[in-house]
Amino acid sequence: MSDLFASIEAGGTKWVCSVGTGPDDVRDETRVETTTPGETLDAVVRFFSPHRDLTAMGVASFGPVELRRDHYEYGHITRTPKRHWSGTDVVGTLSRAFHVPIGFDTDVNGAALGEGRWGAAEGLDTFVYVTVGTGIGGGAVVSGEIAHGLVHPEMGHMTVRRHPDDDYPGRCPFHGDCFEGMASGPAMIDRWGASPNTLTGETGSKALEFEAHYIAEGVRNIVYTLAPQRVIVGGGVSKMDGLFPALRSALRSSLSGYPGLPEHDGQEFVVPPGLGDRAGIAGGFALAASALGD
Ligand code: ZN
Repeated sequence: MSDLFASIEAGGTKWVCSVGTGPDDVRDETRVETTTPGETLDAVVRFFSPHRDLTAMGVASFGPVELRRDHYEYGHITRTPKRHWSGTDVVGTLSRAFHVPIGFDTDVNGAALGEGRWGAAEGLDTFVYVTVGTGIGGGAVVSGEIAHGLVHPEMGHMTVRRHPDDDYPGRCPFHGDCFEGMASGPAMIDRWGASPNTLTGETGSKALEFEAHYIAEGVRNIVYTLAPQRVIVGGGVSKMDGLFPALRSALRSSLSGYPGLPEHDGQEFVVPPGLGDRAGIAGGFALAASALGD
């Protein structure tokens, strides 16, 4: 019999709570609005309480979060700009209510693990999941393990080369024209004065060219740093029409033939998520399974 897991996708606007053995076998599910930590976590505990047969829980959370197991704030949401939520002890609250192993990580790291187990990176051991939306983040699985060090990686803040025709200053409050500062959804809206999916004609093609350029720059840095077998690009901006062909071609120019691997030029190297909108809950399930050492 398969283990029954609790999956929690802890987002800034809602927490999606599911019970099942994986994203293809969800037996109960609810959405809890993100209000205050006390109210939200109480509702989460109330939802899971009748499920007495859970073997593990997984939480894929908005951040920043503390992931160092020997740190006194392990399992907390740390210094978030979201009101009331700084210093919330998510893992502590859940482990006092449910005496099962709990896997805890960022939403993007959870999504990476989920894609590895059930989605576009199934069967691979070194790959990266990048989300391009309100912000930009990346989760890296290296030799089968999610990469963490002092903190989770912050791939959204890497340096990217500017498109030669782009004079937009960038909007990252820390770095201005970093990857996120140039290519997030809000950066596109700011630069073009409209949401990426509503741009048409010449502006639309310029926006697509710029976006493909910046994502290719980010992917190039990832390629040269981690040598992944595949890079998955998800998030709202990744749904722009024509993005993937433009991105593959921009990546080819950006790599300029080095190191010359045929894989980097193939259709299977940079791909959309395999799990689509289920990536979040899959992340919770994957974290629950890893908490069991599975
Ligand atoms: Zn930045």
